[in-house]
Amino acid sequence: MNIELHRLDIPRRLVNGIRRRVNSAKIESAFRARSHRADVAIPESSRAEVIVIGAGISGLATAYLLRQGGHRVTVLEAGAQIGGRADSVRSPFRSGLCADAGGFRFAADHYRVREYLNEFNLPYTNFYNTQGDMLVYLGGALFRRKFGERVRPSWIPRVLTNEESWMFDQENEIEMFRVSGGVDTFAKAFASHISDSISLHSEVRKITQTSSGALVEYVSDGEIKTQFADYVVSAIPYSVLKDMTFAPTLKSDKAEMISGLEYRPGLLVYFEIPTEYWQTQGLSGFAVTDTVGELWSPGLDFTRDTAITISYTKDEDAQELMALPQEERIATIAKRIEEFLPDFREFIQCSVSLCWDEDRLIRGSRSMAQFLSQDQMALIRRTEGKIHFAGEHTASLRLGWMEGALESAERVASEINAICTSG
Ligand SMILES: Cc1cc2nc3c(=O)[nH]c(=O)nc-3n(C[C@H](O)[C@H](O)[C@H](O)COP(=O)(O)OP(=O)(O)OC[C@H]3O[C@@H](n4cnc5c(N)ncnc54)[C@H](O)[C@@H]3O)c2cc1C
Repeated sequence: MNIELHRLDIPRRLVNGIRRRVNSAKIESAFRARSHRADVAIPESSRAEVIVIGAGISGLATAYLLRQGGHRVTVLEAGAQIGGRADSVRSPFRSGLCADAGGFRFAADHYRVREYLNEFNLPYTNFYNTQGDMLVYLGGALFRRKFGERVRPSWIPRVLTNEESWMFDQENEIEMFRVSGGVDTFAKAFASHISDSISLHSEVRKITQTSSGALVEYVSDGEIKTQFADYVVSAIPYSVLKDMTFAPTLKSDKAEMISGLEYRPGLLVYFEIPTEYWQTQGLSGFAVTDTVGELWSPGLDFTRDTAITISYTKDEDAQELMALPQEERIATIAKRIEEFLPDFREFIQCSVSLCWDEDRLIRGSRSMAQFLSQDQMALIRRTEGKIHFAGEHTASLRLGWMEGALESAERVASEINAICTSG
């Protein structure tokens, strides 16, 4: 299948105009007024046995919601831990330091993320540091600006891509938050409510559908096991699902979408740096560049000795670096950073790099589903018999974000509740 990308070319003027009108007060009232999920208790006779494949944010939230409805749920997770891309890196850094590996930030209008964080009493805080200057390094020229200050048109040497325009739009930074204790605490909070339902080291290989349900075949501790359920929820990326065996085979348009959906490459490099390095230069530890993508130092705390700075490169830049061995990736990024941050390499205390494209259970950082047509997006989330589809790639809004993953969980829980109560 030739999946054509539809870039959303909305004039920036218009987007900014709309955004300005949606001020904080309105966001707050919309947040309070909105209820995203029907808290349905399903009559006992209508409750179902459900297997959720994958314990990322979407799988965990789906299981959490289905359990609240009274269904019996099993989550089969192939890896050794829950959370998927909503993970945080704590090693090899000094004790207490932590940086995220996905799900870094969320906007004020990511209502679901905020709703569940509040439900679990998990604090969140500003993603960007408001103290110190932020850097813009474009076309070899360096500029400093304050938090929330506009990037001047004269700083921009060429036409920006949509992605770059988004990065350079200072309004995106004003109401952007992060989970204070690391995004992995968010995943763990979901899991803590359903821990007896989660089976780790359980890699699903085959789904056989029958008229009454689906038989799921998975490998656990080297053994092939099977479990039958009324419904199955796939909450794994299509980049991985494409290797699953389905009996009978899925409809051809769905199968082609699963095998054809593209994922964008991303590379993360983490550096532990003395906080003094930033403080003496009056910098916030944040930069937007055309050489090392975005540079972030969330939660830079001058009362501590060190902090973690992350470089996040995407697309072709990431792909080019991925061809190199680990050490060279880190060395290349560090050298590029030094073009605009003097002596940066001398201050590195430890470093590590992470690439989700190389994780065989994820294979990509974020889906490109948001660039598809509405019909193609509908196909991505279309139910196939007893199989329902969750995950960031199946959302209708905020695709690629945790917000989208949560939206997909609510949709799938509603789909199953509706089927169970309609009979
Ligand atoms: C570098 C990066 C930066 C990001 N930045 C942000 C951000 O700033 N803000 C934001 O909101 N989002 C961000 N995201 C996206 C966000 O992390 C994801 O949208 C979200 O975590 C996806 O959740 P998911 O449940 O859809 O899938 P995943 O997290 O991919 O979960 C899938 C799970 O399925 C498991 N699995 C795979 N195959 C099998 C199998 N055969 N059997 C059983 N289990 C299996 C995997 O091990 C995994 O645990 C970022 C992602 C990346 C990678």
